[in-house]
Amino acid sequence: MSDTSTTLDARRSTLDAPASRPSYAHIPLYAPGTPPCGTDVGDTINLWGAPPAALAAVRAAPDATVFNYPSLYGAAIKAAIADHAGVAPDEVTTGAGSDGVIDCAFRAFAEVGGRVAYPAPTFSMVPIYAHANGMAPVPVPLAGDDWAADADALLAADAAITYLCTPNNPTGTPLARATVERVVAGARGLVIVDEAYAEYVLADDERRAEVFTPEAPGMRRVLSLRTLSKAFGLAGLRVGYGVGDPALVREVDKARGPFVVSALSERGALAALADADDGRRWVAEHARVAVAQRRKFDAGLRALGLAPAPTAAHFSFVPLPDARAVAMRLAAEFDVGVRVFAGLPTVVPALAASGGEGLRLNAGPDAVQRRVLEALARVLETPAPEGR
Ligand SMILES: *Cc1c(COP(=O)(O)O)cnc(C)c1O
Repeated sequence: MSDTSTTLDARRSTLDAPASRPSYAHIPLYAPGTPPCGTDVGDTINLWGAPPAALAAVRAAPDATVFNYPSLYGAAIKAAIADHAGVAPDEVTTGAGSDGVIDCAFRAFAEVGGRVAYPAPTFSMVPIYAHANGMAPVPVPLAGDDWAADADALLAADAAITYLCTPNNPTGTPLARATVERVVAGARGLVIVDEAYAEYVLADDERRAEVFTPEAPGMRRVLSLRTLSKAFGLAGLRVGYGVGDPALVREVDKARGPFVVSALSERGALAALADADDGRRWVAEHARVAVAQRRKFDAGLRALGLAPAPTAAHFSFVPLPDARAVAMRLAAEFDVGVRVFAGLPTVVPALAASGGEGLRLNAGPDAVQRRVLEALARVLETPAPEGR
């Protein structure tokens, strides 16, 4: 084996590296903050796995799936998604995860220097994609003690793009319909409604009406974002989609370009979206299980004296002082992973009390939740060992 570093040194040219883009200087690479653990509820993936039909379809892929290009703009998945979401195929755009759709929609609907307004705290990638596209992120603090977004302040930002997330990540809190409608009615430009967790809202009979996707095309300026990474259990395939007016979707497809969703991902996605017991009915069934498990998880967290924020998703957010230290101990001493948040804007009383720190915990099977709760109880009741 040759020593790679010596080889690279020998090859290193005396030329200067290209100057980097100054506006990129402060863009961080994504880093979740805690290592992967044996029992891990840090990501908001589906801890029950993936629809069996999708797994089988990926395994059985013929060679042509690999040596041919995939479809240009994902026509087949657009049709399957349209059927699943209750819209028309030309009202759907797809991307490499809904992350990819956010990136493309930003580029399609704001020029460089344009403003992107969003309630804070929300999905951490939003300011990053704004910066990466040369735009100016405008965080608008949540208002009041009920984690509500401030529609008037969002509109006052007069942004080219307004991003809303319901249920919100990381808090799990849903937006009131009136808030969404007010922002949509008053916004100057594109309104993104990120509904990555819509399947969990649909799984709760009392909340079904809080999903906006079927109405997005009629609202003209709304792009509803969905993904196969969460309830659909296909995070590794990177398939996300947006639903909106056909003219709007066309602009996002321009920013997207062809061949973005791989042929293997397309196969898996199509199988998962089929209206079958091992396809999207598996997804709906496990979303119901996840919502029931999350209720149990919340009760367990409250029994530990914690106060999870009101959630409409399959995860819970617990404001907690020194959350980072707690998460590190859970990982080091119990091999339990949770997602830690620090430096969140201290905009609601619970976040002010926790110093802007908190933990996000994903619902999972009983055994997983029990291990997490037991470890959390131990960490919270015992002081950190000396020297840590
Ligand atoms: C997870 C998540 C996404 C991105 O998911 P993809 O894997 O890129 O589809 C987008 N928005 C929110 C709010 C999320 O939580």
